[in-house]
Amino acid sequence: MKKLFTISMALALGATAMAQETKVLFIGIDGLRSDALQQANTPAMDALIDEGLYTFDSWHLGVTSSGPSWSDMLTGVWEEKHGVTNNSYTGSNYNDYPYFVTRVKEYRPDLKAVQITSWGPMSDAVYNDGWDQKLIPPTDDACLQVAQIQLLDPELDLLFVHFDDCDAAGHGNGFSTDVAPYMNQIEYVDSQIGQLIASLEARPTYANEDWLVLLTTDHGGLGYSHGGLTDDERAIWWIARGGNVPNVEIFGEDPGSYIAGDANEELIPLTPVLTDIAVTAIDHLLPEVDPELEEEWDLDGKSWLDFATYIEKGEQADIDFTVWPNPSNGSFYIEITEDMASHANVRVLDMNGKVVKVIADNLASNTQKYVNLGDLEAGVYMLQVINNTQTSTRRIIIR
Ligand SMILES: [Zn+2]
Repeated sequence: MKKLFTISMALALGATAMAQETKVLFIGIDGLRSDALQQANTPAMDALIDEGLYTFDSWHLGVTSSGPSWSDMLTGVWEEKHGVTNNSYTGSNYNDYPYFVTRVKEYRPDLKAVQITSWGPMSDAVYNDGWDQKLIPPTDDACLQVAQIQLLDPELDLLFVHFDDCDAAGHGNGFSTDVAPYMNQIEYVDSQIGQLIASLEARPTYANEDWLVLLTTDHGGLGYSHGGLTDDERAIWWIARGGNVPNVEIFGEDPGSYIAGDANEELIPLTPVLTDIAVTAIDHLLPEVDPELEEEWDLDGKSWLDFATYIEKGEQADIDFTVWPNPSNGSFYIEITEDMASHANVRVLDMNGKVVKVIADNLASNTQKYVNLGDLEAGVYMLQVINNTQTSTRRIIIR
């Protein structure tokens, strides 16, 4: 089954690349906490989630300020490489680690790329970044209008739109699900996203284009501020829809363990993080290039387009594990019955090889782990246990 899956994926990728021009819309929402997004009424973002890959369990690995965070996303590397650790952008090392726009233009020099933000420092303080146009409308509403005008241009290939007002509402009133002005602003920005997506899908050329929509936030917030390393500042979210991104939710049960460089770093390969934005965008815009293999670029992020390849990457050795009861109503216990070099995570695939659930958790050796798959439809699935160097798959039945 695995081989058939890989071949059919390859055919699908090839067909898409030949038929349609690949394009990216990247929507950045400043200062939107993960718990607040989950509680707010956000039909436009929900519609993207319904068709896309998403997680509410992403985790900020660096300085939770805007300058470093947008740099993580736009360069595909962490602050040790891009050098930005504050909002003045001093110390930036964009000559060695430029925005992904510059990387894409090495292969697609005619790519038309536009950045729209009302947050001055992102446009004023950043020089070597590859945009054809950097527009600085005075407000979020003006950003939306300017973006909608840009979307009328059939030549447009890459649009980055940044909405700043959730962050402003957090600073002014508090970053919390209990703060009405903050929650109201989230719902307002959702309506702006709805209008933006409507304009995208109204392009006369839309049917002949392959748009990947990426959305995320730069940081959360605590009290009236952010910049530190508390859970409330670091817990973020990540959405992608279109291209060859699978329709799946990525779970991470213990985001507090995603500290770069510590023993749980093996969780990061299975969870979307900020640097994955650039790498996924490059992968989509350059179907012939694997950005993770471009040594000179030295990217830290990973692409969620070739998500299926994690099966192959981990296929060097088996993991001995048992799963019971099987069949069940969706409640399973898993036990890994050997000593592993690194902790493992769980994925569930349907019989077409499509990933339907990822539980990015910390499975230790010789420990029982409870997994609840009760929200999946009854049927036959493949349950896969995977770590950096090993993977094993068992057939399970949900009744
Ligand atoms: Zn802020």
